[in-house]
Amino acid sequence: MSAVMVDLRGVHKSFGPLKVLRGVDLRVARGEVTVILGPSGSGKSTLLRTVNHLEKVDSGSVRVDGELVGYRQSGDRLYELREREILRQRTRIGFVFQHFNLFPHLTALENVVEAPLSAQRRPRAEVHRLAVRLLDRVGLADRKNAYPGQLSGGQQQRVAIARALALEPKVILFDEPTSALDPELVGEVLDVVKDLARSGTTMIVVTHEIGFAREVADTVVFMDDGRVVEQGPPAQVLDSPRHERTRSFLSKVL
Ligand code: ADP
Ligand code: MG
Repeated sequence: MSAVMVDLRGVHKSFGPLKVLRGVDLRVARGEVTVILGPSGSGKSTLLRTVNHLEKVDSGSVRVDGELVGYRQSGDRLYELREREILRQRTRIGFVFQHFNLFPHLTALENVVEAPLSAQRRPRAEVHRLAVRLLDRVGLADRKNAYPGQLSGGQQQRVAIARALALEPKVILFDEPTSALDPELVGEVLDVVKDLARSGTTMIVVTHEIGFAREVADTVVFMDDGRVVEQGPPAQVLDSPRHERTRSFLSKVL
């Protein structure tokens, strides 16, 4: 068992002429919470998407729990995995999106059981019990038969978190999970994420919620222009940033 759960080395990614990631190194320890901050367009979402091979890197490597993501190494050559193997890897990497991305025609419970049944082919009764437990954990035991359209944004995002947990992921990636929510609904979602943090779930959270970062993060990473500008414990990065770009960003969001 590797102490480093997510390990990015020298990751470069361009879209045509646009260099979006310019040599990112990032290591996330097992059981730790890393919060990524940075201005819009700095490459945060692209970085998260490389972790589960939704974006292929141009160079560099991504490992999750010691396993190369998207590729198999043979000697000094890399071969891209087949779609089926990529999907298998992806089932162990949870992803929670800004806009929830629930299936609108499925109930909360059906959304949570869908992937464990279809992608992991686990027994229906076991998955059903797990889903009920997870919906209870995110405070939605009484809404399990509701459709997404009948739920508030905060409730939908909590279903999305339960859905991610149902795959028993090695790491959960959150891409601005509260940015689409009305302000009064942000707290209930952050409380669920805090609960996961306390229970030792490995997470990478892209957010502008500085208070959350200060309280929950083991490591805060500041990105700008496709690079990690600085990283460290929250007190260091948030209160005594070393770089002018970090200071300037924080002065705008605080
Ligand atoms: P952030 O999440 O920090 O706002 P992103 O990773 O979403 O940044 O985007 C970084 C840059 O890459 C932006 O300029 C964005 O427009 C561009 N970009 C992201 N995805 C694509 C894509 N699929 N094709 C072309 N450009 C993209
Ligand atoms: Mg983004």
